[in-house]
Amino acid sequence: MSKTIVIVGAGIGGIMLANKLRETLPPRHRIIVIERTAEHAFAASFLWLMVGQRERNAITRPVRRLLRSGVELVIGEAREIDAKERVVHTGTEAISYDWLVLAGGAEMRFDLAGSETFFTLDGAERLYSVLREFRGGNVAIVVTATPYKCPGAPAEGAMLIRDYLRQKGVSAQVDLYTTEPRPMPVAGPELGQAVTGMLAERGVGYHPNHVLRGAGQGALAFEGRDPVKADLVVSIPRHVPPDVVRTAGVANAAGWAAVDPRTLVTKDPSIFAIGDCAAVQLPGTWKPDTPLMLPKAGVFAHAQALALAGRIAAEINGGTAPEFCGDGFCMLEAGEHLAGFAFGDFFATPSPKLELRNVGRTWHLSKVMFEQWWLAGPGFRRSALGAAMQAGAKVYGIEMKL
Ligand SMILES: Cc1cc2nc3c(=O)[nH]c(=O)nc-3n(C[C@H](O)[C@H](O)[C@H](O)COP(=O)(O)OP(=O)(O)OC[C@H]3O[C@@H](n4cnc5c(N)ncnc54)[C@H](O)[C@@H]3O)c2cc1C
Repeated sequence: MSKTIVIVGAGIGGIMLANKLRETLPPRHRIIVIERTAEHAFAASFLWLMVGQRERNAITRPVRRLLRSGVELVIGEAREIDAKERVVHTGTEAISYDWLVLAGGAEMRFDLAGSETFFTLDGAERLYSVLREFRGGNVAIVVTATPYKCPGAPAEGAMLIRDYLRQKGVSAQVDLYTTEPRPMPVAGPELGQAVTGMLAERGVGYHPNHVLRGAGQGALAFEGRDPVKADLVVSIPRHVPPDVVRTAGVANAAGWAAVDPRTLVTKDPSIFAIGDCAAVQLPGTWKPDTPLMLPKAGVFAHAQALALAGRIAAEINGGTAPEFCGDGFCMLEAGEHLAGFAFGDFFATPSPKLELRNVGRTWHLSKVMFEQWWLAGPGFRRSALGAAMQAGAKVYGIEMKL
């Protein structure tokens, strides 16, 4: 019998899942992806776009090109899910499913008027034109709320901006302000200290436990602190779940889809969630009464997609269903074409266990190769060079198959 798998969202998770399912399942099973934008942008490259190391066209691709043939693509907004009837409604279509996968990512709210950002494609492109004209002064990078995607990105952004201005000979003080107690708090104090060290070595000021209260007239106001001068403010916006996820009947109190950490199933056995829109609770707490949550990052969306493809295939074909194991990694851009590399097990008990490798050119090049691999699409991923890259990644337990 033919089954239909509907995936809401063609980002990192949705694309990986659709391609892996198409590779695994016989053609009689339908794989339908609903995506509201026809153009995919590779978000990790926004950091390079913002300092002029990429052009917009180099980091965007038509979604259709990134999907294998045989995956059906509906360009439109998934507006409502009728879980009882197993139907997704777009503005124009009602699409039935046997299994639904929420892969809608996170949406952003820009509360800090007058600030720039590198968290969106347009924002990063605009920030480059602002940085080009910047004549010097105080640059403040502000994390306005948690959670946000890619816990390393604010530190990377700060180091890249600092490096860009330094190379141009512009005199600037770059500071990173955040509500968090340390960088990447989920990764533990040791890694936090290592990242603080990376920032300090590059002359970036790091200011934890800073809760933004307002901005205006070249200054920022943080709760219980003296105002700080800021000639250029770059904000990491507040992240919220997409409406369709919040209203699907499977969300936690904050609106993210609550899933079993390993199977990625929600409380409705026919609905799964992967990537940024999923709430995955980890062992341990990071403040009293605040559970640790899996960070929102492409590397997890990617790995969850592969595990879930195996699970759905096992439901259809029989066999053992794989589980998402919680391993993750991050190449942390430091400027000067260098990067650090953090990797480890986020499901470790009593709390995640991560290691950080010294800053070096290899990690930066690995990130560039990953970008190229991703943007080249399924054809390249099956080529000899793609296979060599996959083998290299496997050394670190990273599955880049497809
Ligand atoms: C500056 C920056 C740097 C980053 N660097 C890294 C990095 O180095 N490593 C890393 O692992 N991660 C990184 N990330 C994070 C990574 O990009 C995200 O975690 C990843 O894209 C999440 O994948 P996803 O599939 O869950 O969501 P997304 O890739 O965001 O895709 C979600 C898709 O769903 C679509 N959608 C949403 N709602 C609907 C709807 N109702 N109907 C139809 N379509 C819908 C959206 O249009 C979108 O295309 C970075 C992010 C940023 C912003």
